[in-house]
Amino acid sequence: MSARALAVVMLAAVGAVATAAADSPDEHRIDATEPVFADFLDAAGAIETIDSGLTASFDGQDRAAWQERFERSLHTLNAALAGVSPKGISPRGRRALAAMRSGVAFHTSVSSAPAGNCDDAVRPSATGRELRTALYACFSSVGDAIQFEGYSFTRGDALGLLERVDEPERRRALFMAMEPLWRAVNGDNTPDSPYRRMLAAEAAHARTNIADAEASLGLPAGAGERWLEQALEAWSRAGRSETLEPWEFRYGYSSATRTVQACAHHLEDANARFFDDLGANLARLLVIVDVDARPGKAPIDYTDFARIGRSMAGAWRPAIPRVSIHLGEEGLGSANELAHESGHAVHYAAIRARPSLQMPDELSLAAESFADITGWSVFNPAWQRRYLGCAGTESEGRRARLGSVILDVAWGLFEIRMARNPASDPNAVWTEITSRYLHIAPHPEWSWWAVRGQLVDDPGYMITYALGAFVTADLRAHIRARIGKFDAGNRSWYPFVSDRLFRYGGEVEPQLLLRRFLGRPVTQAALLADIRAIGSR
Ligand SMILES: [Zn+2]
Repeated sequence: MSARALAVVMLAAVGAVATAAADSPDEHRIDATEPVFADFLDAAGAIETIDSGLTASFDGQDRAAWQERFERSLHTLNAALAGVSPKGISPRGRRALAAMRSGVAFHTSVSSAPAGNCDDAVRPSATGRELRTALYACFSSVGDAIQFEGYSFTRGDALGLLERVDEPERRRALFMAMEPLWRAVNGDNTPDSPYRRMLAAEAAHARTNIADAEASLGLPAGAGERWLEQALEAWSRAGRSETLEPWEFRYGYSSATRTVQACAHHLEDANARFFDDLGANLARLLVIVDVDARPGKAPIDYTDFARIGRSMAGAWRPAIPRVSIHLGEEGLGSANELAHESGHAVHYAAIRARPSLQMPDELSLAAESFADITGWSVFNPAWQRRYLGCAGTESEGRRARLGSVILDVAWGLFEIRMARNPASDPNAVWTEITSRYLHIAPHPEWSWWAVRGQLVDDPGYMITYALGAFVTADLRAHIRARIGKFDAGNRSWYPFVSDRLFRYGGEVEPQLLLRRFLGRPVTQAALLADIRAIGSR
């Protein structure tokens, strides 16, 4: 979903215009445009579903018919919104307008499949935007062709393998096999490397992403950095204190992954039973779970609307959420991906908001943390025992879950510091963070941070995951306190979260929605307590 978080710069310091706004002609035009926008989203969702290779037609119509509807609704939409100004309309109307314009921009731009060419990243005249596109392509052409022991691995599979290869020498070799990707992204780490030129040009974009993430939690500007440092400090004190080589870090927190490997089969079925036990039967909620491996399928996991839920002729026509997932090696990592993406799907199915505000960009951070409410469950031994039939210990599960969280937090802090001072040496910034907080041996000679596509595709976006982890921990603790444990099922779960959290989509601003749900603003307490518990057995 990261691509969606792009163009929300239209926010708005709220002016003193709330009164009389409802009578403004522009406000009426925005309201009246909602059904057209819904048609537009439905057509876009149908086309993307067909283009994913899943089916040749959707809802009884082929691609050409949907394309025709797409263009017709786009034309009407553009005409309706052309003269509308955000001045003089209510804050809600302004958010709806911004969301419609952003939705049009998103669905009329190129797809999220890497469209550029990695070689373009070395071209000195490339603009920041061109560098992002080229570098993102490197994640496909170089990143998904990691050569190890005579086989070619995708980046995701290689990172997963680092958690499971038992021999230290082989782990080191696998880690070093990613060097071509580091080099494609950051060359020799000279100031004119592709990444460093890209970041210099796109620093303002990165700072906007960071500010948006903070704003979606109602945090004052700059507060996010302190939160991330606190999480890293807690990890630094709670975890082991011996220094690890970078190829040992993932292996060190992944013993649960290795334990559960033996029984991690039939994951799709396990996932379906889990959601059924939560009162969120995926089939009944019309969720499409596309796990087929086929040529041309998107290399990343995502969830989108095949069609949105909307009011039609006085009745609610339910959404059809579509999960596209690449189930690599069966294991805890894949189980987590399935439970995370299915979490998005059941969130989408519960939304009862006006079309423009079902999934506005500013909901990104909250939506990712909603998906992890269930995503995190698979690390709990109760989940593993019930749905797979074997389990690690609670302490192992916590380490596995928080180990990948803390890496996201480290990348979030890396981006905050790089965005603030784009001339910094990224290897030095990454080495400082990972050696100080994660006790990883310094290797400033390698750009080993360069294994996340978001860093180049959408600079400044990693904070969304990093701060999102605080929200997930807070929400999970709150839900547990209200309805009891749910990691191994609890039929009250879906009615509870649908009614109080999911149904609003983005109609209520995320920070307000979270504050209403929790009865207070999100705090760091739950995640910090979770991390501190790593030390206990
Ligand atoms: Zn997600």
